[in-house]
Amino acid sequence: MVTFLRSLAAAALALACLAAPASRASGTLEVTFLSVGQGDAAFAVTPSGRTLLVDAGPPEASARVERFLRARLRGPIDVVVATHPHADHIGGLPAALAIAGARHFYDPVLEHPSPLLERVYRIVSARTRAGEMTAHRVRAGETAPLDLGDGARLTFLAPSEPLIEGSRSDVNANSIVFRLDYGEVSFLFEGDAEPATEARLLRRERGRLRAQVLKVAHHGSRYGSKAALLRAVRPEIAVVSCGLDNEYGHPHAAALRRLERAGARVFRTDLDGDVVVRTDGRSLRVSTGRR
Ligand SMILES: [Zn+2]
Ligand SMILES: [Zn+2]
Repeated sequence: MVTFLRSLAAAALALACLAAPASRASGTLEVTFLSVGQGDAAFAVTPSGRTLLVDAGPPEASARVERFLRARLRGPIDVVVATHPHADHIGGLPAALAIAGARHFYDPVLEHPSPLLERVYRIVSARTRAGEMTAHRVRAGETAPLDLGDGARLTFLAPSEPLIEGSRSDVNANSIVFRLDYGEVSFLFEGDAEPATEARLLRRERGRLRAQVLKVAHHGSRYGSKAALLRAVRPEIAVVSCGLDNEYGHPHAAALRRLERAGARVFRTDLDGDVVVRTDGRSLRVSTGRR
């Protein structure tokens, strides 16, 4: 399966431009960080109506993710990004893909076999064979940025070759990290980035880390969102995706302190519910399920 995906990933280096969607432009980019318990899931609708799903939470969140998507989708998801193959990120993907499929599937293709990942790849493989989906292996510098219409653009910053080895968790350390830009506003999605990921981002991508909205690394673990990275990002809004009273103690007090010191207003899916960030490309508006 890995070989299969690799062969499909010979993406053109030109800017990948997705087919125009049916819906009309609204001039607003809306990103919802879903409250899915201990895990990550985010859904974005671009100004031209293109849809982006970033992870889909743990398996227990499948029904929640499914309800959310059913209320919003009128066709296949345009782009699905599976940041890395841990269950708290891809657990809800089989349910999400079953609703309406996806036109493009991006994952880092890491060696991390599990029945869950096999299940996801079986769905991707079937949809690809049917000509409904294209699968892409993400490598920063090799994978073309995505034009999401009306100036919205997604650029991959990690993982990059050679993959990180010998970290606390190489699967986390080689998470997909990307930025989503619209006008003057940028979102940085860190997946479950590790210190080694952030150090490499600072070395290789320093000029492309500035973002107003940060999806905080690894559910607010003490090992992510280090001060050096935050100095480069300078987030105004930081979103921590984690479960209430989770067994890992996420988010860690030290990570929260660093985010606050960096000047970010912190939102947490465990306390705030869904966190919705809307932008017209200049200003930001945040609303939550609880405030
Ligand atoms: Zn995670
Ligand atoms: Zn992880």
